[in-house]
Amino acid sequence: MMVAPPLDAIRAFIARHAIPLEPAFLGRPFRDLFPTLEGLRAEVRRQGLWAPHLPREQGGLGLSLPAFAEVSAVLGESPIGHYLFNCQAPDVGNQELLLSHGTPAQRATWLDPLVRGEIRSCFAMTEPEFAGSNPVWMETRAVRNGDAYVITGHKWFTSSADGAAFTIVMAVTDPDAAPHRRASQIIVPMDAPGLTLVRNIPVMGEAGSDYASHAELRFDKVRVPVTNRLGDEGEGFALAQERLGPGRIHHCMRWIGICERAFTLMVRRAATRELAPGEPLGRQQVVQHWIAESRAEIDAARLLVLDVAHRIEREGASAARDGISLIKFHVAGVLQRVLDRAIQVHGALGMTEETPLAYWYRHERGARIYDGPDEVHKSAVAKRILAAAGMPGRESKAR
Ligand SMILES: Cc1cc2nc3c(=O)[nH]c(=O)nc-3n(C[C@H](O)[C@H](O)[C@H](O)COP(=O)(O)OP(=O)(O)OC[C@H]3O[C@@H](n4cnc5c(N)ncnc54)[C@H](O)[C@@H]3O)c2cc1C
Repeated sequence: MMVAPPLDAIRAFIARHAIPLEPAFLGRPFRDLFPTLEGLRAEVRRQGLWAPHLPREQGGLGLSLPAFAEVSAVLGESPIGHYLFNCQAPDVGNQELLLSHGTPAQRATWLDPLVRGEIRSCFAMTEPEFAGSNPVWMETRAVRNGDAYVITGHKWFTSSADGAAFTIVMAVTDPDAAPHRRASQIIVPMDAPGLTLVRNIPVMGEAGSDYASHAELRFDKVRVPVTNRLGDEGEGFALAQERLGPGRIHHCMRWIGICERAFTLMVRRAATRELAPGEPLGRQQVVQHWIAESRAEIDAARLLVLDVAHRIEREGASAARDGISLIKFHVAGVLQRVLDRAIQVHGALGMTEETPLAYWYRHERGARIYDGPDEVHKSAVAKRILAAAGMPGRESKAR
């Protein structure tokens, strides 16, 4: 049975609780907000809105992917919306992985407390020494030693590692296998001996803390039981692909939420800021064009993402792969343009922390890079279109 998303209740919660908290979020370390955030998370649970992406048996709302996409756009209007409802990346992807591939013991130890919001997690795949856009090329090794894996390697941009209870690490388990069968995903507790959080990496000058951060990690002979592996040995790449399909819908709809909020702020400022007495900024034709162009781009982007979400729901992520690539780069571009116009309309105010625009501008520049850089997605789609038109393929390089 299709479950309708409780959008009005979620919208009201964001307006009443999340948006008023923004000055504190933008002005103070994330950890300072814990007591307030915990109180609000309890209120989300009390209202029956917790973990909207999960099935009902797991304590979620049992929404379809398109229905959760609508929710994600509403939550995206605040930088802490997803966190308050326990459907924030990267936890949401790890929850989905554990749900579909975790053993009963892995679920009891890691998934259940994650779903209850008692712990957080992270996903460590990218390495500074290797091109992250080639997901089968990495150096971190997990060597089998009796009933354990011994993991050694270097990762970075592991989002939200600071304060996480565990990471899912991508490590090579068989360097001699075919490129797509070399790596496995392994659960590693963040307090495992040999695992060091080297630093939170400053992103556009801001290192952040706790959930709102991206870390560099070193694994120095970290020993974990073989039972910590997710899925079969060599399945790491396939699981990563599986995680990214619905994950891109989540990200794109969050970006659309950000666009909507930036649009609201831009329009309000244009309507009220006077360039001279009785002369609002919105009378300038260039500002009118920015508003009209933004409205058209946001509406079109939303429809494209929802169309792809419906396709994934009907036919699976593999059938929808072109659409998944199209939304990734298209919506990231819309996001960047809308944020830039909104900042321009705000003038100097747009550069401050008095609106969330500058925060998003810093932190969402990465949207064109993470989850596969835009250029990779564009080439992937174009190559399939050209192949269908008869262009001969190049002999694939083993990489
Ligand atoms: C904010 C943020 C959060 C992140 N969170 C995580 C996380 O939680 N866990 C994790 O493991 N990783 C994370 N990452 C890392 C992210 O996945 C990588 O940055 C991404 O895969 C790109 O890899 P790279 O940075 O090594 O860039 P490279 O692979 O070195 O690519 C550099 C540039 O080269 C160009 N390029 C690459 N390939 C092609 C191509 N085929 N055709 C044309 N041009 C190309 C693109 O413009 C690309 O931006 C995060 C990154 C950011 C910015």
